Amino acid sequence: MPSYVITEKCDGCKAQDKTACQYICPNDLMALDRDLMKAYNQETEQCWECYNCVKICPQQAVEVRAYQDFAPLGANVIPMRGTDSIMWTVKFRNGSLKRYKFPIRLTAEGAWTADSIFAGLPEPNFDDLKKSGFFNGPAKAE
Ligand code: SF4
Ligand code: SF4
Repeated sequence: MPSYVITEKCDGCKAQDKTACQYICPNDLMALDRDLMKAYNQETEQCWECYNCVKICPQQAVEVRAYQDFAPLGANVIPMRGTDSIMWTVKFRNGSLKRYKFPIRLTAEGAWTADSIFAGLPEPNFDDLKKSGFFNGPAKAE
């Protein structure tokens, strides 16, 4: 089920040129009603429930109704992003809660480009495709 905005919480990212949810959506689905200063998902059937808008919203104003097999009715899964970690709160149908905290990437926004990701790495060797291991992984002891 697609993302939706809790309008009472949304402040329109304080009228910046582009809201956080607009910036992050890989499918350009989020729009801002500038009269109401509220965001909304303008094409819900195109939403692939990636949770990016949920995670980035500074007001925690976006939620996704998770798939039934992942979070059945009455349950929910809510992320809260901090500066160096993300906390996932899982609410079960019986009301019990569990929280999981994970470290997150600290790379500055926009710092990663196709060029910067591969800078300094050797050219790929296509013969290595048949070997196990990862490109740029630690050298294996033979
Ligand atoms: S990121 Fe959150 S607060 Fe900002 S416009 Fe989107 S829903 Fe509203
Ligand atoms: S869940 Fe992902 S695809 Fe859907 S509106 Fe949010 S950022 Fe876009």
